[in-house]
Amino acid sequence: MSFGYMGKILLVDLGSGELKERSVPDEVYEKYLSGMGLAARLLYDMIPAGADPLGPDNVLGFVSGLLTGTGSLFTGRWMVTGKSPLTGTWGDANCGGFFSPAIKRCGYDGIFFKGIGKSPVYLYANGIKAELRDASHLWGKDTVEAEQSLIAEASPTAHVALIGPAGERLSLISGVSTDRGRMAARSGLGAVMGSKRLKAVVLDGKKRIRVHDPGAMRTLTKKCNGSVPPSIPISGGMNAMMGILLRVLPTAMAMDGRLVLSMYRKWGTTALNQMSIEWGDSPIKNWAGDNEDFGLGRSAQVNPDEIRKREKIKYHCYSCPLGCGGICTMEGKYRETHKPEYESVLALGGLCLNEDARSIFYLNELLNRAGMDTISAGATAAFAIECYENGILTREDTGGLELAWGNTGAMVALIEKMVAREGIGDVLADGSKIAAARIGRGAERYLVHAGGQEPAMHDGRSDPGYAVHYSVEPTPGRHTLGSWVYYEMWQLWKTVKGLPKPALFYFKGSKYKADGEKARIAAVNSKFMNVVNGSGMCMFGSFLGAGRIPTFAWLNAATGWNRTPAEYLEIGERIQTLKQAFNVKHGIEPLALRLSARALGLPPQPKGANKGRTVDIEKLTRQYWMEFGWDPETGKPTGECMSKWGLESR
Ligand code: SF4
Repeated sequence: MSFGYMGKILLVDLGSGELKERSVPDEVYEKYLSGMGLAARLLYDMIPAGADPLGPDNVLGFVSGLLTGTGSLFTGRWMVTGKSPLTGTWGDANCGGFFSPAIKRCGYDGIFFKGIGKSPVYLYANGIKAELRDASHLWGKDTVEAEQSLIAEASPTAHVALIGPAGERLSLISGVSTDRGRMAARSGLGAVMGSKRLKAVVLDGKKRIRVHDPGAMRTLTKKCNGSVPPSIPISGGMNAMMGILLRVLPTAMAMDGRLVLSMYRKWGTTALNQMSIEWGDSPIKNWAGDNEDFGLGRSAQVNPDEIRKREKIKYHCYSCPLGCGGICTMEGKYRETHKPEYESVLALGGLCLNEDARSIFYLNELLNRAGMDTISAGATAAFAIECYENGILTREDTGGLELAWGNTGAMVALIEKMVAREGIGDVLADGSKIAAARIGRGAERYLVHAGGQEPAMHDGRSDPGYAVHYSVEPTPGRHTLGSWVYYEMWQLWKTVKGLPKPALFYFKGSKYKADGEKARIAAVNSKFMNVVNGSGMCMFGSFLGAGRIPTFAWLNAATGWNRTPAEYLEIGERIQTLKQAFNVKHGIEPLALRLSARALGLPPQPKGANKGRTVDIEKLTRQYWMEFGWDPETGKPTGECMSKWGLESR
């Protein structure tokens, strides 16, 4: 009998229409957990070297987390995984809502799809039966309409993951949606689903998830719940002032995640909107601008209090005591939208020098319904604007759009064309790197990417940890895998002996020194995030810090294992090596994933919050790879390292 995990997966061959359940040995969970780790273990073997990401050999996995449904908190994240068509690397995207427990309640830890269907289908499963059903009538519908139709025809209690028109049209920046427009947006995995003609996965199971020690789970959860902070009693204006203070002070204070969570409780991630611009965390004007180009006057419409005025209801993901989500009202074509996340606000706002909040709300809903990644869409628009401003794109190319910085109308029309794959929109609909190759004429000069993926809205010239993780992770360009400030908030040194402990106060300049300790911190971040993603935990919850959120103790109580926190980090290390080996197997050169020079401060900015800063990525990358025992010159896991983790070299 398994505890915590279900011990089973569902394999669906869309080519033959065959569905097979497969038991997964306990040893796999013991070595890789569930969620991301389970998917990495299975897909490393299942996807043949050099497989076309949009071909029948790519395998698309939907996985839950080991802690999902066990009575733990913040553990409702699910992940979609596969070979990314955007980067050619290991690909994954992560989302909250209620789909993660739905996978386990059907009796599975993951559902995996290979092959290509002859016509559009969706999978329906309820723990008793699993079957493919015709989805021709849903093809072409947006994510909100199609989800409503599926719930009406399948069951009012079903949970759905699905693609919109962007995934159907194989946009390489499309994602997978749930709960009426929440997105597992990154890595372009919506296009993989579209290539398989799989419109949706509809789950309506009722199975129980057993845990080894329910009493211990209850005690741990009660204590953790008591440490979740209340809403912060300050205004949005004061919040923006904090950003200025963080910029001008010569010293920094190690961040306590409770402060961040108290802001998220009040505003969600929009808490960062102005604060992050002011302290230099937000890239502006396609990463060539700075806080002075988008000061408090220009960002006023996205002050978190302004966003909050539009919030009709707040919502929580499954098992979340915080609730950072919200539904906002809006004028015009759509009446409501999910509260735009900080990432969407900046990508569609400051990155394009767009001050207009109404357009951001509209584009957020448009992209969510289309199933297109707001980060990549906004970043690709910013890239196109810079190309236009420098004469690389002309009015003729854009179909008459005057793509000037801050021209909201033109930017909205551009993104509408991307969604529709129309004219210039078709050139841009697969992200900025592919667009630069299509445009030619030196357009690559204005590209900011890591391995083909547009990095998220956190600037490594402010916190070099982001630049490191954008560049070295097997899934490049991602902000959810580590930074220096995440390490401060995770406080892992409280439970794992020997880890570096940041000083409470320190001179900011020390953040920019590339030394062995920084590389060690980055390696610990990657390992820990593999544990978090194997558990189905929300990264925001993990910001509570190791002394308050009992990730490792929950894992032990749920499964009956008796592992130390250090042993869990070893599991994280094994998963990281496996994902890197996946890339090597598919011909990826790890060095080629490095973030573009502009975003590394090469050359350094002449003014603004990040003036004069450059990230020494060469040194940090080499040291990071050494932390894992990978070749410091190539980033490839050595034969010795592969044997250490029981992995075969391929
Ligand atoms: S903190 Fe926000 S994203 Fe995380 S689980 Fe809670 S509601 Fe979901």
